[in-house]
Amino acid sequence: MKVLVTGGAGYIGSTVVSELVKAGDEVIVLDNLFQGHEDAVDANATFVKADLADKAALETIFETHRPDAIMHFASYTLVGESWEKPFLYLRDNVVNALNLLETAVAFDCKKFILSSTANLFDEPERIPIAPEERIVPGSPYGESKYLIERLLHWMERVYGMNYAALRYFNACGAASDTLGEDHAPETHIIPLVLEVALGQREKITIFGDDYDTPDGTCVRDYIHVLDLAQAHILALRSLDGGSKVYNLGNGKGFSVKEVIETAREITGHPIPAEIGARRPGDPATLVADSEKLKRELGWEPKYPSLHDIISSAWAWHVKNPSGYEK
Ligand code: UDP
Repeated sequence: MKVLVTGGAGYIGSTVVSELVKAGDEVIVLDNLFQGHEDAVDANATFVKADLADKAALETIFETHRPDAIMHFASYTLVGESWEKPFLYLRDNVVNALNLLETAVAFDCKKFILSSTANLFDEPERIPIAPEERIVPGSPYGESKYLIERLLHWMERVYGMNYAALRYFNACGAASDTLGEDHAPETHIIPLVLEVALGQREKITIFGDDYDTPDGTCVRDYIHVLDLAQAHILALRSLDGGSKVYNLGNGKGFSVKEVIETAREITGHPIPAEIGARRPGDPATLVADSEKLKRELGWEPKYPSLHDIISSAWAWHVKNPSGYEK
């Protein structure tokens, strides 16, 4: 299948691109390289540097490549930043998705996979969190993803588009020692902890230890990026069966303290940690119920162990201590 991957030079997008190429799909990557890294794009994919705000560029890409399907990763993705710059998230994420959808419809491309988020579930009534859980976006970022899910709902009703929205929990780990996580600025716990182990940071600050969890620190569902990638590919292959939303996680929760302790075991570094204030907007526990995905698509996580996830990330960080070339 010919697949257009927006944000295919980013952390999750580039991993999915590489897995699609391995599976024999023809891949076109669209990325503005604002956060992405051209070095992360598989050499067998076609790379186009373009911005989704540029509708003419989008039309040229569709005209030239005529994709059968779209995987949409390109977006602003930081919960905290979205509180400071709500218009960037509520306008750009949504308008860019509209540009993409309008062009897709014009070129009769009606298969769409959306990278959505667990930030739709700010006040879960039940843990683990199933896709049917009440939607309460936790930030302008979460709301922007929910708005795109709603756009897809209407694309299906009006144009017969088939879509899957995958709401992921905490993506982490590295697909190989050439594909890893390199954000600027880095805000995610696993790469930050590993930067301490590499001597690039002095210590890690734990954002609160007074949550209602077994050790007082937040519990998250850490899912290996390769397991995420497989879910995208399975969802793409199943799209003829109708549109779906799935929650996508490992199904197991680990606390911030457990993450740090596991990283200490793997790296052999003491990783000094201090307790800081809570980070606004952090729920105590987020763990996914991915049963629908397992049942309907036959997905199973291959790397559910936190030890394996952090080990893969560590191998990448050791090999690429400064990340991708800037
Ligand atoms: N966290 C932390 N210190 C940091 C960064 C993150 O204690 O320097 C905690 C954060 O409060 C959350 C967990 O680690 O409970 C995962 O945060 P991350 O930013 O990696 O992902 P998020 O859950 O926000 O998607």
